[in-house]
Amino acid sequence: MTRAAGGVGGLDRRGFLHVAGSCAAHLALVGAAVPSAARRAWAATPRGRVVAAEPWGRLEQVHEGVWALVSTPLTGDRTTLCNGGIVAGRDGVLLLEAFGSDAGAAWMAQQARALTGRAPTHVAVTHYHSDHTAGLRAACAPGEAGARATLHTTAVTAALVSTRNPGSPADLLKDAVMLDPANGGTIDLGGRRVAITPLDGHTPSDVTVRVEETPVLFAGDLVWNGMFPNYVDAVPSRLTRSVRAVRAAGARTIVPGHGAVATSADLDRYLALLDSVEAAARAAVRDGITAGKAGDAYRVPAALGEWVLFNPRYFERAIGAWMKELAPAP
Ligand SMILES: [Zn+2]
Repeated sequence: MTRAAGGVGGLDRRGFLHVAGSCAAHLALVGAAVPSAARRAWAATPRGRVVAAEPWGRLEQVHEGVWALVSTPLTGDRTTLCNGGIVAGRDGVLLLEAFGSDAGAAWMAQQARALTGRAPTHVAVTHYHSDHTAGLRAACAPGEAGARATLHTTAVTAALVSTRNPGSPADLLKDAVMLDPANGGTIDLGGRRVAITPLDGHTPSDVTVRVEETPVLFAGDLVWNGMFPNYVDAVPSRLTRSVRAVRAAGARTIVPGHGAVATSADLDRYLALLDSVEAAARAAVRDGITAGKAGDAYRVPAALGEWVLFNPRYFERAIGAWMKELAPAP
């Protein structure tokens, strides 16, 4: 952890510790072990028109009035860390995710102003991990009219942010619009609506955000593209079930929590990866071997292409999460 902290661009040590323990720490460690060719492959596959590019990521227009930020933290700059987006309507602008730092969130809010003429009026976060929520203060900062953006989240996510993320903004969480835990909710931006759907599996509360009447869905960390997912909080069977629900929703442009913007074919490849991890865990339980041994032996099937992961401990974590479900310790 200390070794990785030295290379965290855009965050001081306190900031790094703030995000450590979530996907951010996972990314920092993976980044240290990724060959430059793989970093370039992940970083250099925009699907939309790039409207802004910085060391920490690029903003792509993926539909009229819809932009996706693809963070590129493996370059060493982790100002934003996770992916996110901007959705514009006639009356409001939604900022998706609050990113890994106030600087990252402030940059995205500034992009919203430049692209739409107004500061974000709404902010939604997909789950509590601090690489998606550390910049909440800046994400919700008051715009030109003096009103701060309304935060939309689930009660479970709000509780996890306040109990697990040091320095979380209690006032913003208290004033948040809590989504219905069963049905989610919609945000009407004026001529454009987004539907927020509650799921789980990556954490106890994840949501996806579908931009209605467009092919675009923001999947949060339920979906990773080209990078092996972090199972640190995962309940793997629920993760797979949620990803199948995302697939069934039929979006053609899926913005993952980490990695390049995905197609439905990419989502199928990711589902096959999740299934292969499950199969490895089931075999380990059957054969009575440890998650560590199974992780050492696991290889991503060649047909699934390149996934950024070169440290076998992450395989162990994923297989171990499955084994906890399949054969819980007495
Ligand atoms: Zn996460």
